[in-house]
Amino acid sequence: MTNRYFMNITGKVKACARRMAGLSDKQLQTVTNDLKSQLKSGRTLDQILPEAYAAICEADRRVLGKYPYDNQIYGAVAMHHGCLVEMNTGEGKTLTATMPLYLHALTGKSTILVTANEYLAYRDAAQMRPVFSFMGLTERAGVTRQPGQALTNDEKRKNYSADILYTTHGALAFDYLLNNLVRRAEDRFLRDFYFIIIDEADSVLLDGAQMPLVISGSPRVQSNLYEMTDFFVSTLKEDRDYLTEDKAVWLTDHGVAYAERFFGISDYYDHRNFEINRHVTLALRAHVLLKRQEDYLVSDQDEIVLLDNDTGRSLPGMKLRGGEHQALEQKEHVPLTQEQRSVASITYQNLFLMFPKMCGMSGTISNARQELLSVYHKRVVVVPPHKKLRRVDRKDRYFVTAQEQFKAAIEETLKCHRKGQPVLIVTATIQDTQIFSHMLVERSVPHSVLNADNAYWEAEIIAAAGMRNAVTVSTGMAGRGTDIKLEEGVAGLGGLAVIGIGRMENLRLERQARGRSGRQGDPGSSQFFVSLEDDIVMTMYSEKAGEYLDRSRPIAPWKLRHLINSAQKTREEQSISTREQAVRYDKILRRQREILYGARNRLLDRAQIDRETMWGIINDALTSFVKSHPDLQEHELTRYVLDNLSYELDPEILTPPKDPNELLRRMQQYATKLYDRKISTFDQQEQAQDYMRQCILRALDDGWVEEVDYLQQLQYAITTRGTAQRNPVFEYSREAYHSFEDMKETMKKNISRNFFLGDPETDANGQMNIIFP
Ligand code: ADP
Ligand code: MG
Repeated sequence: MTNRYFMNITGKVKACARRMAGLSDKQLQTVTNDLKSQLKSGRTLDQILPEAYAAICEADRRVLGKYPYDNQIYGAVAMHHGCLVEMNTGEGKTLTATMPLYLHALTGKSTILVTANEYLAYRDAAQMRPVFSFMGLTERAGVTRQPGQALTNDEKRKNYSADILYTTHGALAFDYLLNNLVRRAEDRFLRDFYFIIIDEADSVLLDGAQMPLVISGSPRVQSNLYEMTDFFVSTLKEDRDYLTEDKAVWLTDHGVAYAERFFGISDYYDHRNFEINRHVTLALRAHVLLKRQEDYLVSDQDEIVLLDNDTGRSLPGMKLRGGEHQALEQKEHVPLTQEQRSVASITYQNLFLMFPKMCGMSGTISNARQELLSVYHKRVVVVPPHKKLRRVDRKDRYFVTAQEQFKAAIEETLKCHRKGQPVLIVTATIQDTQIFSHMLVERSVPHSVLNADNAYWEAEIIAAAGMRNAVTVSTGMAGRGTDIKLEEGVAGLGGLAVIGIGRMENLRLERQARGRSGRQGDPGSSQFFVSLEDDIVMTMYSEKAGEYLDRSRPIAPWKLRHLINSAQKTREEQSISTREQAVRYDKILRRQREILYGARNRLLDRAQIDRETMWGIINDALTSFVKSHPDLQEHELTRYVLDNLSYELDPEILTPPKDPNELLRRMQQYATKLYDRKISTFDQQEQAQDYMRQCILRALDDGWVEEVDYLQQLQYAITTRGTAQRNPVFEYSREAYHSFEDMKETMKKNISRNFFLGDPETDANGQMNIIFP
């Protein structure tokens, strides 16, 4: 698809537009049903697109008073073709989305738009709803006005069954996981995924993408390895036994050999020693990477309280994941708290890859063109602005110290402010908003501060940042998605002045900050003030920066620029490779998840279980028991029968014959008798089916929870050992394969046990409840 092609289609939409303009409201509204039946009779989305887009554009005009500009139609066409479109802030992405949403909703399949936070989802859903309902389609928001307020399954089902749904990526991901934890078909609420638009796509697909979303469940049995590994780690020496770099720490060959002697094991990296390996990693991280007073405190109640790195505020109730919290407690010799196990997990990357058709939009996404192509196989299309950009992006100003940097930034702020020109200061860290705010207070400048913790009121404040005299101090993320309109007369003062403080994590964030100004051809300016003391420089090049800051060496201007800019470049390269790594790990989990969720859904949808299948599972369980007990004792057999087959002991099975084949034959005979007896307790065939399905489902879920939890821990333990000719992804996939095979074995055993020992009861509503062993 070339951009020329998109232009061509845009032309076709406009050709249809004239006809739509001539229709009465009533006639326009009938277009929806007409297009639906065209689809039914075999016409394709491509074929009906011009008419559909023209119709919804006309509805946009009549209902909202806004007719999409040509560049918006062009962007909407590119989205139909699965592109990620870059459209500047304020170009009208919300209105643009009405076109592809309308078109895809005509198919009757699930049509969803996700955005970065609940406020935006709720706001955009409410703004666009009148247009869709004018055209006879239902549209809902999948989030509540009150953030965090839980929806019932029935409410969710209602939301997801709407023709069009606006929601957040977080809500969607959790719903996906929850939908696959239900025990009865009626409790499911999602429809099959079909089409999705991702608004603020860079934030959703890149910045938040590699963190897995995890649903926690029942507490894990507490390991006793914390104490032992904690002691072991306290005897290690840096450089000899372990190395650290940035945020990673790992054992050297010397350290590994020592661990093998210490724990009396032959191969530290062997599958069987995973638990030791994992706990050593956790203890190492607790001892080496986490610093008391900096990363956490120990409270008077002997509890670990985490600290926010940026603000230094304490985070009561927050816990580190994957056992790291317990390792930290062990290090500080306070009582260990309970570890929760992960029940289900998914990354956004994988969530979105499940949609047959995905597209997105953002003000700043072209910088990540390459990565988006390789990870998501998505093309980025830059949509030219509706009116020429008039914003002046001034050259960066470089300083050695933060003091000079802040002084210059505040002088610039005051210069603009004295004229009445609105100023928006965007900082790289939360801490800097506070420092800058303090400096403004000292100079008696009234201003607002936004720290990205309440999207609702931040949107109001940021919207007002274009008023005469306004001074707003904000972090990069705060108030995203809300555009800043200029007050009358402000254009004459030069529009909104954006002042950036500190080199940011990546270029996209800086472009996002600049994009706050100059919307729809408004005048405006932007400039960044950066220094060696910026967070990013201090983390990437602390030593080098330190030397220059000590004034022991003067720094050449080119060197200063180079150091600051390459800190950002290196950081971004690191982030890209972390994200790529996460995709590779997640691919493995994804394959397993697909198999499992597929099987689950078939069970919920009442798949028939024939005798052969059920008996095959039971037989496998018996065979594996006999195989793993070459010299079976009488009491072992008794135990096995009681735990797996029957609560009543049959004397004829109790003495095991010496020959394993004979033993297997006798057990099969015995199990056949029990099987027939069990089936005969059900009056109807369908009840027996229901019973078996529930037995299998329970075993599947129990096994899968263990597997998800194990893979989570595995990834955590393995990512830190990417040295010494080891390929972490390869090792992970090998371990994951083994554990999946083990899981299948265990599931068979449990299905068989559930079947023989499960106790079904039918309640007043005819619903079968089973008490499982
Ligand atoms: P973006 O998401 O691209 O930053 P929004 O969708 O928030 O931008 O739109 C910014 C503003 O422009 C809104 O006030 C919207 O109503 C207005 N707008 C968008 N498209 C048009 C249009 N075609 N005609 C008139 N106003 C428009
Ligand atoms: Mg927007």
